[in-house]
Amino acid sequence: MPHSRRHLVAGNWKMNGNSQLATQMVAALNGQSIDGVDILVCPPSLYLGDFKQADFSLGGQNLSEFASGAHTGEVSASMLLEAGCKYVLVGHSERRTDNHESNDLVAKKVEAALKNGLIPVLCVGEPESIREDGTYFDFISAQLDAVIELVGIAQFAHMVVAYEPVWAIGTGKTASPEQAQEVHKFIRDHIAKGDTDISQKLQILYGGSVKSANAKELFSQPDVDGGLIGGASLDPQEFLNICQAAK
Ligand code: PGA
Repeated sequence: MPHSRRHLVAGNWKMNGNSQLATQMVAALNGQSIDGVDILVCPPSLYLGDFKQADFSLGGQNLSEFASGAHTGEVSASMLLEAGCKYVLVGHSERRTDNHESNDLVAKKVEAALKNGLIPVLCVGEPESIREDGTYFDFISAQLDAVIELVGIAQFAHMVVAYEPVWAIGTGKTASPEQAQEVHKFIRDHIAKGDTDISQKLQILYGGSVKSANAKELFSQPDVDGGLIGGASLDPQEFLNICQAAK
């Protein structure tokens, strides 16, 4: 029986795009109401202002764990909110690697987002070596548990989780629908140990080399509630096709 969760398709531009692409994306996505699907675009923060006319959701790609103050180069949750964001990506694997974000720091960022009413999209996922040695459930549990311990399971009612196996990000090597489903179910079961109702309502997105050609199969898995799209979210028509595949 199909579940009743809405699907969410999120575009993560990473450090790509410009004002012109923002304008094209607004023109391509505005007015597209897709049954049961919410659309989210996470551009670099500098371009959030170019999305003022957007009728879809906006998100940041990162936020500071601090509320304000002497933290040069950082962006706070309240700034993202004021710029029109509803969501914020937290703990993307590129930040965990490039910026050495630990599970504890990611948990603090989730807390900062929640305190300001932003919906954190908590990104989890194992690198290739962990996939190969078979300990990926332990790895992902640790990523989830750091957040559960700091903010409490009840806060997962106000969050989204994205499973992004690091070996599938930007590599063209997508997880098979079965591999994605296995981990998504594991994540839902893990949250269910704390609260079954919240686990059933939690949106769990898949990310890693999603394109329109493989989106439908991935999104039709019972515990896959949409996607977090990197490279393919930079092409407005391709991104729209992926959003439509989530119907
Ligand atoms: P990709 O990136 O779709 O380019 O693999 C996904 C992500 O990192 O969010």
